[in-house]
Amino acid sequence: MPGYELINREEKNAVNKLFNEGGVLFAHGFEKLRKKYHVREFEKNFSKYLSGYKCLAVSSGTAAIKIGLKALGVKAGDEVITQAFNFIATVEAILDLGAKPIIVNVNKTLNMDPLELEKTINKKTKAVIPVHMLGFSSEMKEIINICKRKKVKILEDTCESLGGKYEGKYLGTLGQVGALSFDHGKILTTGEGGLVISKNSKLDKYSREYHDHGHENNSKYSRGEDTKNIYGFNYRMTELQAVIGKVQLKKLKYILKKNKERYNQLDKVLKNKFEIRKKPKKSIPNHDTFIFFLNNKKQKKKILKAIKKNNFGTKNLPDAIKWHCSFFWHHALPAKQIKKSTKTKKLLSTAIAIPININRSIKDYQKLAKSIFSIS
Ligand SMILES: *Cc1c(COP(=O)(O)O)cnc(C)c1O
Repeated sequence: MPGYELINREEKNAVNKLFNEGGVLFAHGFEKLRKKYHVREFEKNFSKYLSGYKCLAVSSGTAAIKIGLKALGVKAGDEVITQAFNFIATVEAILDLGAKPIIVNVNKTLNMDPLELEKTINKKTKAVIPVHMLGFSSEMKEIINICKRKKVKILEDTCESLGGKYEGKYLGTLGQVGALSFDHGKILTTGEGGLVISKNSKLDKYSREYHDHGHENNSKYSRGEDTKNIYGFNYRMTELQAVIGKVQLKKLKYILKKNKERYNQLDKVLKNKFEIRKKPKKSIPNHDTFIFFLNNKKQKKKILKAIKKNNFGTKNLPDAIKWHCSFFWHHALPAKQIKKSTKTKKLLSTAIAIPININRSIKDYQKLAKSIFSIS
């Protein structure tokens, strides 16, 4: 997750420039004191990258999921289906709306199993959240077909998979709504931040109002006289985050290229010995993490040791598994949902995730691949 690895003079200069040009840190108003509206520009730039889909910058990825669900009409008591390999934020957003998280297992793609979705979706399901975990697309064709048939909306949690594609489309632009995160671990970072990607103006309008206390930002009126229809909350992004985000977005293409070079060093060696995470047909990952499976516990132990010795971590498989598998979320989920997550927990316990870092050289990855390959 290299966004933070590339923070340098450019981001610092952008912040300095913001202060030199008036230092307004709020995204709205103060016309006379400022030269630009950076959050709005950040959104425009992102919209251009994401094939014209509407983009709303917000305070976090978790906020983006919550706002997106709200825009899709999720209300207290509704059921929202998501997956067992996940980050807890998705479940938190559902719970915060008073809705019920329903968990389905993942398959060897490590994303939502469409077969389980088919069996689980019912009249109470208001939305489905496929989570494109660690750079890989979910099996979107199957998921979209099921949801269309059942008339259920899709929110794609794309927080970990910006830049990935499915059938030529950017992840986050396949469902009705997509959510991105710019927290410090993600492929692009603004420290904290997120983005709501909407398929149409109606969803975008609702999200905009909701994230800004209901403000319609009616151009005919001053902010103090602004019109309103709904009440909302405050999930706004600041100008400080946006100036950094604009610089980071320019680095995305470079990051994706460097990721792929490193990922391929592991892939070309390890695929000859291990089962690699299954990539859905016609999808391109952002190559943020390399994942492979192995059943032999002794061998796994030795490999984890070798990875550590090479000064690499193993991200959430197994490093932070307790925050990424619903089997461990007794504090948030009813026992039935925990029990349902058992299959995923078992599968994840056979997986190892190696993060791709740009500050590590291609040689480092070649060396790592060799040393893992040599372990029996
Ligand atoms: C990071 C992340 C989030 C939440 O993003 P924040 O910006 O940290 O709130 C949600 N879902 C997934 C899959 C994530 O990785």
